[in-house]
Amino acid sequence: MTKAPKPPPIPLPKLDQAPDAQRRRTMAAVKGKDTKPERVVRRIAHGLGRRFRLHRKDLPGTPDLVFARDRKAIFVHGCFWHGHDCKRGARTPKTNRAYWEAKIARNVARDRAAIQALEAAGWTPLVVWECETRDVEALTARLRRFLVGEDGAREVGRLASRE
Ligand code: ZN
Repeated sequence: MTKAPKPPPIPLPKLDQAPDAQRRRTMAAVKGKDTKPERVVRRIAHGLGRRFRLHRKDLPGTPDLVFARDRKAIFVHGCFWHGHDCKRGARTPKTNRAYWEAKIARNVARDRAAIQALEAAGWTPLVVWECETRDVEALTARLRRFLVGEDGAREVGRLASRE
């Protein structure tokens, strides 16, 4: 489990060639709702015995995983689309650079606003970056701290040992 397969490179549409419909399809595929990083996070949350709902549109930013009882929400963000401060996030396509930079800046601003709105409403949000989902062990530890905390960790240990 520690060695996740390398994610495929993000396809970057060539905007000067792609018609609008094609561009929209490509972007929908890239920002799809069932991405591999999301599946990794869901699997870990399941493993921690936590119940959640997906993509609640009634919450700011439509969090990817929502733990309603605990008022906790997780966003799983692609490093490129959401401007992560990592190698992949820093990569900007050479063509239409201004377009992409503006788009990503808008996403970052929107993400920040969603986090603030959630916190203002008494929620505890967490952002998991795509690049973090490659180290499942470290991510599991992080999600355990976020979802379960110290007391809950013992509870999960008991549940796991019963299996
Ligand atoms: Zn990243």
